[in-house]
Amino acid sequence: MPDTAERIVIPAREGRSLHVPAGRSFRVTDREGGQVGDLFAFNAEDVSEYASAEHTRAFVDRLFPRIGEPFVTNRRRPILEFERDESPGHHDMLCAACDPERFWGLGVEGWHASCEENLRKAMGELGHEDIEVPQPINLFMNIPVAPDGSLGWEPAETKPGDGATLRAVLDCIVVVSACPQDIVPINGCNPTSLEIELLAPN
Ligand SMILES: [Zn+2]
Repeated sequence: MPDTAERIVIPAREGRSLHVPAGRSFRVTDREGGQVGDLFAFNAEDVSEYASAEHTRAFVDRLFPRIGEPFVTNRRRPILEFERDESPGHHDMLCAACDPERFWGLGVEGWHASCEENLRKAMGELGHEDIEVPQPINLFMNIPVAPDGSLGWEPAETKPGDGATLRAVLDCIVVVSACPQDIVPINGCNPTSLEIELLAPN
């Protein structure tokens, strides 16, 4: 495995950004296990173009990502490629990022951390205050689809140290949110930290 060039810990319930030059790879690691990471990738030269799960599903003719396949943007061109999977292999492309309204709907009163807020904060720190919130690639998130079309909200099956490696096709701003969802059990009702590493060039 290539040496790590840059490593950022993402505390539980928070988000962080990483610039990934075109051609470079990065790994998202679940440090403690059982944790979902909402992954967003924006074209660094024009953040109105971004990785889009809904466009990717149509591009790869699948509901969920697979090794060697691209993730495409809202302009239907590859921005990331799924390079290596060292996890049980569940990565959701069906569900929107959690947001304040999601938590209000689940009965939470007052403020609750969310992936949407984590994304807006991380992008705002880079001067991008006004962004669309893309449909994310939900790493490690286990949302089985039953034959009748109903969705499960299953706990992530990742073990400590499991991870997913993606390669940037375009120059990207990548944001990963350690999903703060603690009402439905996708994080085992115990959100924990993640890590993102920019890998050294091969
Ligand atoms: Zn979330």
